[in-house]
Amino acid sequence: MKRIKIIDLIAKPTIGSEVTIKGWVRTFRSNRFIAINDGSTINNIQAVVDYEKIEESLLKRITTGSSISVFGKVIESQGKGQSIEIEVKSFEILGDANPEEFPLQPKKHSLEFLREIAHLRFRTNTFGAISRVRHSMIFAIHKFFNDKGFFNIHTPIITGSDAEGAGEMFRVTTLNLNKLPKTDTGNIDFKEDFFGKETNLTVSGQLEAELAALALGQVYTFGPTFRAENSNTTRHLAEFWMIEPEVAFNDLNDNMDLAEEMLKYCVKYALDNCTEDINFLAARLEDEDKSKPKEQRSLPLIEKLRFVVENDFVRLTYTEAIEILKRSKPNQNGQFKYQIKDWGADLQSEHERFLVEKEFKKPVILTDYPSEIKAFYMRQNDDNKTVRAMDILFPGIGEIVGGSQREERMEILKQKIKKFNIPEESVWWYLETRKFGTVPHAGFGLGFERLMLFVTGMTNIRDVIPFPRTPKNAEF
Ligand code: ATP
Ligand code: MN
Repeated sequence: MKRIKIIDLIAKPTIGSEVTIKGWVRTFRSNRFIAINDGSTINNIQAVVDYEKIEESLLKRITTGSSISVFGKVIESQGKGQSIEIEVKSFEILGDANPEEFPLQPKKHSLEFLREIAHLRFRTNTFGAISRVRHSMIFAIHKFFNDKGFFNIHTPIITGSDAEGAGEMFRVTTLNLNKLPKTDTGNIDFKEDFFGKETNLTVSGQLEAELAALALGQVYTFGPTFRAENSNTTRHLAEFWMIEPEVAFNDLNDNMDLAEEMLKYCVKYALDNCTEDINFLAARLEDEDKSKPKEQRSLPLIEKLRFVVENDFVRLTYTEAIEILKRSKPNQNGQFKYQIKDWGADLQSEHERFLVEKEFKKPVILTDYPSEIKAFYMRQNDDNKTVRAMDILFPGIGEIVGGSQREERMEILKQKIKKFNIPEESVWWYLETRKFGTVPHAGFGLGFERLMLFVTGMTNIRDVIPFPRTPKNAEF
């Protein structure tokens, strides 16, 4: 008999019908009640066996983590907690899980421990929920852009340019590291390398997305990006996924509108379509918060998500933010690790979080940053000091989006490239878009895992991607 998924059975149960369920045993109580999960939903189905009719040796094999196929009748549940259950007629153990060795027992495991067994943590409620929400967010992002008439573009993962300067890069090479070819001057001869030049893993698909936007109008990328971030934080991965829309004829205001609309769409999508998983994650967060002092507790997850959907983001300039920060209490009494003294200072995550969590209590979009602390391609303002940049700051996270209106004027772009010490010949192809039919355009990058942190209420970025890549960690 063909198996029915638990999600479908719960959605439309026919009392009295016979079904086959396949999944993994979560718990087995009183030699009678098997809780089975098949991953289709956070909900288990309870299968009830008549232990008097079953051999002891077979009963013993129903253990947490084992896989099982059960055949039986759908009946109304006698117990609390579920509306239906299965009266088992026959069952088969598909795969044993020795309880002496299976590391996931029906008790609370720490997130740190679960990271060490990332190959099995999908089988927990928490990671099942996160994985399903992650899928839904990927789907929502594609739907959002598709519905708006954007085209998805695959930008290269191996890149020959380091122009973005977004972070330290990972080298890609096939050279024999024990016998590196050298040039006459003693440097490594990359002409001998696979591509005949130095190549790295991409830190961003933006520059290539711009090329596409200047022909297709509205495009977006959704791909892996790599940064050899040597900082070990709860918000940085060495390999993460980024969404980068790029739109011809958009200015910074259009860009902010698009980003705000997109973030709200995704959060609302999660509330509307991942209700059970979000409810579970909300309860998990509430439980975790109980052990924290009151002032460190976060808003209940669902309240936090609704708040973002229902409220306009605050928009202000970097210069206004610096004034607020300078006057702020933590800046005056030395509570910030990095004191804000002068205009021009780069904002640290402590400052970003102060603005969002204490000052405005809302998501904040900061614009018009000093040109020195932003990338070369951002459009110069008339003050010659600032650029049309925007960062979106979220509660509990800090920066979730970074974007800008791009410099479309060739002469100014060339000056900037010189100022940033980027060899012009390395970005000749980028410059040609300004030479031939240049137009104002704008775009941004959204870190997918930062969005996932927000939506799931998790606090460590290692817990919202299946197999995190961080310094000294590339297991699995
Ligand atoms: P941060 O200051 O937090 O390091 P950034 O300024 O380096 O961020 P951008 O280069 O603007 O970030 O990248 C765009 C987006 O990608 C960021 O807004 C963030 O959401 C995400 N992001 C950046 N670096 C990482 C990382 N190491 N791991 C996960 N997401 C990241
Ligand atoms: Mn960074």
